[in-house]
Amino acid sequence: MSAISNFRCVICHREYGPDEVQYTCVDCGDVGTLDVLYDYEVLRANLDRDRLVAIRDYTMWRYRELLPIGENAVVPPLSVGMTPLYDAPRLAAEMGLAQVWVKDDGRNPTGSLKDRASALVVARAMEAGIKTVSTASTGNAAAALAGVSASVGMIPVIFVPASAPEAKIAQLLVYGARVILIEGTYDQAFDLCYEVCQQKGWYCRNTGINPFTAEGKKTAAFELAEQLGWEMPDVVVVSVGDGNIIAGVHKGLTDLLQLGWISRIPRLVGVQAVGSSPLAAAWKAGINAQDMLPVDAETIADSISAGLPRDRAKALRAVRQTGGAFIAVSDDQILQAIPILAQLTGVFAEPAAAAAFAGAKLAVQQGLIQQAERTALLLTGNGLKDVRRAQQAVGKPVRAAPEIGAVLRSLSE
Ligand SMILES: *Cc1c(COP(=O)(O)O)cnc(C)c1O
Ligand SMILES: [Zn+2]
Repeated sequence: MSAISNFRCVICHREYGPDEVQYTCVDCGDVGTLDVLYDYEVLRANLDRDRLVAIRDYTMWRYRELLPIGENAVVPPLSVGMTPLYDAPRLAAEMGLAQVWVKDDGRNPTGSLKDRASALVVARAMEAGIKTVSTASTGNAAAALAGVSASVGMIPVIFVPASAPEAKIAQLLVYGARVILIEGTYDQAFDLCYEVCQQKGWYCRNTGINPFTAEGKKTAAFELAEQLGWEMPDVVVVSVGDGNIIAGVHKGLTDLLQLGWISRIPRLVGVQAVGSSPLAAAWKAGINAQDMLPVDAETIADSISAGLPRDRAKALRAVRQTGGAFIAVSDDQILQAIPILAQLTGVFAEPAAAAAFAGAKLAVQQGLIQQAERTALLLTGNGLKDVRRAQQAVGKPVRAAPEIGAVLRSLSE
């Protein structure tokens, strides 16, 4: 079980055997990212969701039979996944919705949903005996690869744009990764990483072109389904940069539908930052992934800054096939969303994660989400990742001299 049956190109649907291709479709190039296919008939015959619920491994590996690793594969020991899902009635009231849940993926070991992808990619590298994994990242994928690699004694090579937040760069160095700050954009770092990997024979974890990043991320959808007793919400809202998370969520839901474990797929709503919103624009204009042109990406939400989203074809498919939507929010709306989300749920999210809430709220106002639709927000990264931005969204605390009179006076201000 758990063997991959095939890879299939998202653009031309050409299928490849499990050992025939490593990254993207040979005919379509970079835009032709691959779906990982399983023998669902075999899986249906051998798995049952009630037995799965009883598994006591509270990490993403509880779904290992639905993941592309062998039966005896050793997986990294860090506890990735099974993040909490909270019912959020006060947030729902603020948004004008009847029912809202938030899934706090900032609770992962390195603070973002990216841990799911890195854990799977590292597990596969170990299975194949590959020593060096490399990635380009705006920060979180790099931290995830660095942390997961450290947990198994591997040293990854990481390409980050020099503009990444300092806390994120520090996180990489603390984990002992080899870090190369590229004095350019994420898109440039991405292409350089891919090229170096091919020259050096390293395994490239780059988002989207490595078909297993979305496979790892799909476990967020598995958990959402399991946590809701397999009764899916009507809408799932995800922030979108490269489009790999929304693609992964869509893949997870599709797997579950194929298994007969859920009866329908929720509408997927992707949220972009106005300054980095090529997918929102393409969706609105009815443009295909192959025809999208790069934009100059500029947003404070560094994790969703992507000029030419690498998994654009799958991201567009996720929204179009589910009858969902793309929406873009301004940097101001994103910043304001951070403290509101925190105060109404107790979850402190980084800008790119709070964007999901800002976008969902705007989508309700624009009639893209109806009041009665039960909605889940995927909160993808921890607020401590980018404290500097969070500070811009809140006031300053009162100050008091260290004596009781001054403290009481300041309390009555
Ligand atoms: C990477 C990331 C995203 C966007 O994911 P894509 O796959 O690039 O669309 C959103 N939020 C956070 C916190 C991230 O790290
Ligand atoms: Zn193709």
